[in-house]
Amino acid sequence: MIATPHSPTRTLPTPPLPTKSTPTLSLIMPSSKILAVPLNYQGVYPCPVCRVGKIRDMHLMEAMSCDFCHEIFTVNLEQQQLKMPSRQPPLTWRWNGFNWTETQLEGVELGWGYALGAIAFVLFPTIIIGIVAYNFPLDPHAPITWLPSIWTCLTFLLHFSIIVWLLIEIYQIPLGAYWRGIVRWREVRATVTSARNFQRNSVIRNGE
Ligand SMILES: [Zn+2]
Repeated sequence: MIATPHSPTRTLPTPPLPTKSTPTLSLIMPSSKILAVPLNYQGVYPCPVCRVGKIRDMHLMEAMSCDFCHEIFTVNLEQQQLKMPSRQPPLTWRWNGFNWTETQLEGVELGWGYALGAIAFVLFPTIIIGIVAYNFPLDPHAPITWLPSIWTCLTFLLHFSIIVWLLIEIYQIPLGAYWRGIVRWREVRATVTSARNFQRNSVIRNGE
């Protein structure tokens, strides 16, 4: 008779090998694995858009919203993903237990090609104008000898600002929300200060 692998002598479970640890979470941060907080509807997480507010679940909805920029997100618990559907294509983030990672436009892969293209777009015209300005200097007695160097700087700044503007457009960085936040924070601080002053004055008055 041939012994099968399911014979009674083999039913005892073998202990896991100590050499290999569990793959996914331990790769991220093995030492603080216990502190990792999974994405769920009960939790409160930092807002990946404004990075100022907190996002928490919306009552009776499978969505979360930010208490600061009021952005609404849909949640994929299985993939630990957050999606911002208010823009097309939607932006997505992945929760790794500690913070948001892998910011992505859904279906769009912004790889190294785009990064190199952006760097070339900024540097190439600047270098060309810089070389021309260096090799063909103006007459030192001319009234606008500063023009070539200013022109080179302006070329760099303009091309760089186009890239920054594109990034703001792509990732919908809410500059308006930041500004509203600063204004609101100042208002709150002013209210707290005046309330404290009022309290202090009334204490002094009562003490007299
Ligand atoms: Zn927010």
